[in-house]
Amino acid sequence: MTIVGIDLGTTNSLISIWGDEGPELIPNALGKTLTPSVVGVNDEGEILIGEAAKERLITHADQTIADFKRTMGSDRVVELGSYKFRPEELSAFVLRALKADAEQHLGQPVTDAIISVPAYFNDIQRKATIDAGKLAGLTVESLINEPTAAALAYGLNEVEDSQFLIFDLGGGTFDVSILDKYDNVMEVRATAGDNYLGGNDFRDAIAEMLISNHELDRANISHRAMNRLHRLAETIKEQLSSNGEARYAATIDEVEIEGSLNRDEFEELTSPLRRRLRIPMERAINDAILTPEKIENVILVGGASRMPMIRRMVGRLFHKLPLSHLNPDELIALGAAVQTGLKSRNAALEDVVMTDVCPYTLGTSAVVDDNFQNLVIVPIIERNSVVPISQSQSFYTIRNKQTQIHLDIYQGENMRPADNILLGDLNIDVPPAPAGDEGIDVRFTYDINGALEVEVTSLSTKKQVRKIFKNQANLSEEDLQQRFKALSDIKLHPRDQAENAALLARAERIYAESLRHQRDYVRTLILDFEQFISDPKNRDVASIRDAFSEALEELEGSLFDSE
Ligand code: ADP
Ligand code: MG
Repeated sequence: MTIVGIDLGTTNSLISIWGDEGPELIPNALGKTLTPSVVGVNDEGEILIGEAAKERLITHADQTIADFKRTMGSDRVVELGSYKFRPEELSAFVLRALKADAEQHLGQPVTDAIISVPAYFNDIQRKATIDAGKLAGLTVESLINEPTAAALAYGLNEVEDSQFLIFDLGGGTFDVSILDKYDNVMEVRATAGDNYLGGNDFRDAIAEMLISNHELDRANISHRAMNRLHRLAETIKEQLSSNGEARYAATIDEVEIEGSLNRDEFEELTSPLRRRLRIPMERAINDAILTPEKIENVILVGGASRMPMIRRMVGRLFHKLPLSHLNPDELIALGAAVQTGLKSRNAALEDVVMTDVCPYTLGTSAVVDDNFQNLVIVPIIERNSVVPISQSQSFYTIRNKQTQIHLDIYQGENMRPADNILLGDLNIDVPPAPAGDEGIDVRFTYDINGALEVEVTSLSTKKQVRKIFKNQANLSEEDLQQRFKALSDIKLHPRDQAENAALLARAERIYAESLRHQRDYVRTLILDFEQFISDPKNRDVASIRDAFSEALEELEGSLFDSE
C-alpha cells in the first residue's frame, strides 16, 4: 500500500511519496509541485482548485476563497456561489485535487495519507484536519508536525548531530521547533508558534501602505479591489526579495496608483512583525532549557523565509548563517514523505527514530486553596512533553458525602479555566464519605494525532470511566458521513482541463487589471483560445496554449517594471 505525504498549507499544498530514491514530490495537472490552497466555484457550479481558483480571486472575488486554513477548527461557514462550506470541506477539495494528481502520477488509487499540521495546532484544529482527509476520501494514517517534517527532510542527510532550530514562516502561520539529533535519533525538544503570523501579514503591511499613501477610500473598498491590492502587494513583496526596489502602477477602484517601495522602507514598515517573530523563538529556547548560543544550526522553512530581512534577523539572533539550500516551500512535503517511509518500515530508514512533543498543556480544573474558592487549572501533561505520553494525578472530594466527582478537561497555558480551550468533561461516582476521604486517579494519555484519552479510577472502588476527547466545534461521525456524501455529489472542474482553466482565469484577471488597447488585445486572445479549444477537430492544443501563455507572460512583464 502506498501512503502519500501531504503538506496542506495555508498558501500552497503539496503531495509526495517515498520513492525508490527517497522522498519525491508529485506534480499537479499543471506540472507544478505547489498547488495554491485556493478554492472557487464557476458558473456551472463546478469546483475549481489551485492555480485557476487563485487567478479568480480578483475576477470572481465572491466565488473564490483562500487562506481558509486559518479558520480550521472553527465553525466559520463560507458561501461560495450557491454552496456553503465549512473549513474542513474547503480543505477537502484541496486534498481531493492532490489525491487525483497522485493517482494520475502513480497509476493507482491513493487512500492513505500522512498530513502535516503546524506544531502549534490545537486538538480541535488537528481533528478538523483529519476530518478534511475523511471528506476527501482519505484515511489519515497520522498527522506530523510541520517543523518535524522539515527536520526529517533535512536531518537525515544534511545536518550533523546537533541541536538545531527550525524557523518556519509560511503564508499564515509561524512555527518554531528545537530538535536534537544524535546518531539516528531525532528528538523534538520544544515547539512554539503563532497561528496568526505569516507572509500574508507582510503583504498586508504593503497593502495598508498603498491604501494610505494613495488615499484610497478604506471604508468603501470593494472585496474585489481588496484582493487586487493584495495581489499587487504580494508581487511587490516578492520582488523585494530579489531587488532593492519595486515599482508599481495599477488602477484600484478607478484610482490610478503609481509609485515604488524600496527594501529599507519595507523593512521599516514591517519591524513590528519582526518583533512578534521573536516571541515564539524565545519561548521555544526557554522551554528547551537552552540559550541561543547552544543552537548549532538554524533551518529556514516556508516561502516567507525567502525575505532577506528574515535571513538577516535569524543570522543576527543566532550568530550563524541559516541553512536554506533545500527549497523552503518543498521541505515539509519532502519530510512528510520520509515519514511515510518510516511508517511503512522502509529498509533505508530502518534505524531512524523520531520523537515529538505535545504543543499544549493538558489538564483539568480543580480547587486547590483551603477555602475551596478558586477553580484553577491543574496541569497533568505539560507542554513540550515527549509524546506519546501517559501521566496521572490524584484528586480528592471536597464535600462531605459527595457522591460524584466532575472533571472538565482543558488544553492551554492559562491559569484560569475560562481562558483555555475546554475539550469536554466527564463524571465518576464515588461512595459517600467525609470530604477528602474519597479520591480518584486521573490518567491522561496523549499522542501526536491530538487524541487525548482520559481514564479515571476511583481509588476505593477501582471503578473506571474512560473517554476519548474530541471537541464540540468538530463534526460528529454522522455529520461527516452526510457531508462526505454531499461533497461527493459536487463536481470538480475536470482535471484534464486544469491547464486551460488556469490560463483562461489568468487572462481574465489580466483583462480586469488592464485598460484600453491592452484590454482589446487580451479579449481577442481569450476569445480566440476559447474558440480553438471548443472545436474537437483541433488537436494540437498544447502548442496554441504555449503561444497563449507566452503572450500573457509578455503582458504581465509590462505591468510591473522593477530594477
Ligand atoms: P504555507 O505554508 O502557508 O502554505 P508557503 O511555505 O508556501 O506557505 O509560503 C507562502 C508564503 O511565502 C506567502 O506569504 C508568499 O508570499 C511567501 N513567499 C514565497 N516566495 C517568496 C519570496 N520570494 N519573497 C517573499 N515571500 C515569498
Ligand atoms: Mg507551510
